[in-house]
Amino acid sequence: MTPDDIAAAIRHAGGCARTSTLLNSGATEENLLSARRAETVLRPRKGIYVVPETPEPVVEAALHGGALTCASLLYLRGIWVLDGHDDVHVWLGSRGRARPHDGCRCVAHWSSGSGGVGAVPLHMALAQILSCRGDEAFFAAFESAWNKGMLGAEDRQAVRSRIPARKRWLVDFAHGESDSGLESLVRLRLHLLGIRVEAQVWIDDVGLVDFLIDGCIILEIDGRENHDGPSKRHKDLRRDAAAAARGYTALRFDYALVTYDWPVVEAAI
Ligand SMILES: [Zn+2]
Ligand SMILES: [Zn+2]
Repeated sequence: MTPDDIAAAIRHAGGCARTSTLLNSGATEENLLSARRAETVLRPRKGIYVVPETPEPVVEAALHGGALTCASLLYLRGIWVLDGHDDVHVWLGSRGRARPHDGCRCVAHWSSGSGGVGAVPLHMALAQILSCRGDEAFFAAFESAWNKGMLGAEDRQAVRSRIPARKRWLVDFAHGESDSGLESLVRLRLHLLGIRVEAQVWIDDVGLVDFLIDGCIILEIDGRENHDGPSKRHKDLRRDAAAAARGYTALRFDYALVTYDWPVVEAAI
């Protein structure tokens, strides 16, 4: 195998491969050495090969002895993740051994199966974020992945069967229309309070609103991404005025209020 062939095999395996895997797919020790010299591949530690563009968290997970999972993988894939993502969540299989390495900031996950390197499938990362970070983090990430078109019916079923039976209602309650994790959080919390909301409702003169409660309260959630700038603020004020003119009460909350000041939000609603 040429250095480019080996790099292609590593990319095919998700950006990270064990030496044994590469040898099994036809590479020789000499081929691997040539690839390293040609710098088409890198060897962050003995037994592990990556390509230059392999994301840093995947490399770190491999250094730790496993595959990237949970919040770290979801964040890397562009899925909305509640709270910090500074640590590296690593799946080690059922009996994998955590390896010491420089700058370790890993959170190890053990569950049935034999651990590999690279990244776990999305449905597995979602099931793991439930046990690691709890219901809200799971629900928001699940809806975000669905909304981004990354979670088909089969994947959703795979997640559902992987999580404990008493948590499956979260999957059943989820939908693919939440376009920000904050919306997911608010919908889940209001549901737990027994408040039924309609999501993504069209109101004449106002436009599409995030939520409508009892046909009279409009709830708008400003995601971190899109609430900046004077023109956005002007549009929001105009929408709120149009809503008031039609007899609605418009409530507007942002990331900080929803995540750090929920009692204020709850009391307002
Ligand atoms: Zn580590
Ligand atoms: Zn985790």
